[in-house]
Amino acid sequence: MKIGIPRAFLYYKYHVLWETFFEELGIEYIVSPETNKDILKRGTMHAIDESCLSSKIYTGHVDYLIDKCDYIFIPRVATLGSHKDTVCSKFQAIYDVINNTYREKNLKILYYSIDVINKDTELKAFLKMGKFLGKKKVQIMKAYYIAKQAEKTAKMIDLNNQNNLFKSDNPKILIVSHPYNIYDEYVGKPITNTLKELGCEPILACVVDEKQARDKAKKISKTLPWTFNKELVGAIDIYKDKVDGIILASSFPCGPDSLVNEMIIRRFKGKPIINLTLDGQEGTAGLETRLESFVDIIKIRKNEVVNE
Ligand code: SF4
Repeated sequence: MKIGIPRAFLYYKYHVLWETFFEELGIEYIVSPETNKDILKRGTMHAIDESCLSSKIYTGHVDYLIDKCDYIFIPRVATLGSHKDTVCSKFQAIYDVINNTYREKNLKILYYSIDVINKDTELKAFLKMGKFLGKKKVQIMKAYYIAKQAEKTAKMIDLNNQNNLFKSDNPKILIVSHPYNIYDEYVGKPITNTLKELGCEPILACVVDEKQARDKAKKISKTLPWTFNKELVGAIDIYKDKVDGIILASSFPCGPDSLVNEMIIRRFKGKPIINLTLDGQEGTAGLETRLESFVDIIKIRKNEVVNE
């Protein structure tokens, strides 16, 4: 049995967990390639019109994997964590949306479902999935705990690497964006690459102690419902005094981000902030121009502070 993993959405948050779990169970898998023009085109063709760019990209990756594997891996997350936080409805619905989009192809989907409000924890979800894959409970438990450890180690390495960037004298710019946007080769990487070319250190809000960030976010808004947005908001509070500017990068037309970005602009004053909308348009000339002007402002401010 070969599993196909779409390189989109939760892949960027959980790929170490998933890949280690499958490897420990001896399950073969393939991951779709980095997003490119063809994948986006496939996604745009099949996704429903109201979809955000990130959903279209996800659909494009699923479309790429059809016929290349036996099952496509599409986990479902509804509520998670000790606070029973929710996630954007696109994550909750993705299993059904994809199933419905490709109903004529009789798609075989491998999934797990996390919904802590209904007592479906991550461990329970992995146990069910492992059982479906024909594995024994003891094997599944072992694979899960090894995968959790690998995930923890990978996060620690990412965090240490990012903390080292703060030692640089270059301007540091915090990018507030979901991992599936900022790590995506087609829509997010042009931002980090351009910042590096302009002599800046991109600091990613999604690389953070997630629990600490969620706790911080509670102080900023008691009513924010989406856990992944909470992590980004809390990360701003953690990093704000160590960076020179903030970029909010959201996929078009993201409902949660449009609300949360407004709140961020009102609550976090004192640092230059720009709002970038990622729409998957070809070419990066417009993006580069906006980033150049933003970095110029930051460099001027930084010099003024040094010369004061
Ligand atoms: S949070 Fe925004 S970008 Fe992410 S899936 Fe939901 S609508 Fe799309």
